Amino acid sequence: MNAQPQPHQPQPPLPHQPLQTDERFALALDERDPLRRCRDLFVIPPASAAVAGKADAALDPSVDPAAPSVYLTGNSLGCMPRAVPAAIQRELEDWQALGVEGHLHGRRPWFSYHELARQSAARLVGALPGEVVCMNSLTVNLHLLMISFYRPTADRYRIMIEDSAFPSDSYAVASQARLHAARAGFNPDDAIVRLRPRAGEATLRTPDILEAIDRHGPSLALVMLSGVNYLTGQWFDMPAITRAGKRAGAAVGWDLAHAAGNVPLSLHDWNADFAAWCTYKFLNSGPGAVAGAFVHERNAADRSLPQLAGWWGNDPATRFRMEPGFVPVPTADRWQLSNPPVLALTPVVESLAIFDRVGMPALRAKSLALTAYLEFLIDRLNADSPSGPAIDVLTPRDPEQRGCALSLVVRHNPRQALASLQRRGVICDFREPNVIRAAPVPLYNSFHDVWRFAHALAHVQ
Ligand SMILES: *Cc1c(COP(=O)(O)O)cnc(C)c1O
Repeated sequence: MNAQPQPHQPQPPLPHQPLQTDERFALALDERDPLRRCRDLFVIPPASAAVAGKADAALDPSVDPAAPSVYLTGNSLGCMPRAVPAAIQRELEDWQALGVEGHLHGRRPWFSYHELARQSAARLVGALPGEVVCMNSLTVNLHLLMISFYRPTADRYRIMIEDSAFPSDSYAVASQARLHAARAGFNPDDAIVRLRPRAGEATLRTPDILEAIDRHGPSLALVMLSGVNYLTGQWFDMPAITRAGKRAGAAVGWDLAHAAGNVPLSLHDWNADFAAWCTYKFLNSGPGAVAGAFVHERNAADRSLPQLAGWWGNDPATRFRMEPGFVPVPTADRWQLSNPPVLALTPVVESLAIFDRVGMPALRAKSLALTAYLEFLIDRLNADSPSGPAIDVLTPRDPEQRGCALSLVVRHNPRQALASLQRRGVICDFREPNVIRAAPVPLYNSFHDVWRFAHALAHVQ
């Protein structure tokens, strides 16, 4: 074995000793965390935000309202990087100082502004630079890509998704099926295959997914799962599913809303046809931020693929000849319709720069440790509960089948548990009727954050 440390191999942040439940242990883990300074790159909303707008709730007197909250909802909206306001201000200044000349002569010329995100977005999802583009929003990108990759016929028309797919994805695939049904000659009500877990189970088994792909094979036009499921936190076996979908003759696309910036990805090597993701969750780019899209190079160069076109998908070399014939650029940019929304892209560029600096290997290493610690504390809480386990973990126990988030079913008084968390300055996500999703994010969450979350759950009054 090579004893030299690899430059990109992060040191494990967890000491090789049994985990412990006391607060001092959590603080000691933070001291040893090589990424602990990354937190300073972000603004963590104050504890008072945990009870914002709740007339009947107040913070526990032990919690300083101005101190940082325990922000465990980066899977919904990530925290703001500190660099964002000045970066937006710079574009506003260039607009004031240069007007239209900012397109070519701004400090970061707007003409090619989307290029600023290209390299880092490609690294993030494991793609070649020409395979990614930041544009639009997530559901819009899914539709644009399905226009190209969902080409149903009377025999091959089905789209496979998870039964617990995010509603927007369910609406998107059903509407795509309806768009084609009459002309292609199939029944749109029979077009969506929804993968369900086995009775009594919360997540899907990989062999069951692969078997379903084989079984529906000849009728499958598209397999479009999420990389990490938003509700259960399950990270699917993306390479195996992509292989099976391609073998069955279907197109394979991925919704990476909960995967991008959360788990390591290799879209190019996995040979996916396309993917799309939002950037306001783990990518910390702000509410409704500009999304990302991936198209494998073999597809981007395929002139026979139909698509919706706009001038920013035209070859830049001929774009300003303003001719009516569309000359698609042979990269993912081909799907870009409009000129880049500069003010909305600025936070994406700033945020991706942080991912570039830290690198997914280091983030994943800390993420594994943080989530293992959360899992340990939940298990201890259950073991100490006099009436037996009170919290079920929906998320797979295997770290290779999940990202940072754990979805917890609170069996007794879930609303009270939520209120207890909020009183202690914890911001996390609640899904009716009883699921709390806690996402300790390696960029800005600490082991002490996780301890405070578990401590609040242990003291529900
Ligand atoms: C968050 C999320 C969305 C949201 O879609 P937008 O178009 O960004 O509003 C869609 N799909 C999944 C799986 C999500 O997690």
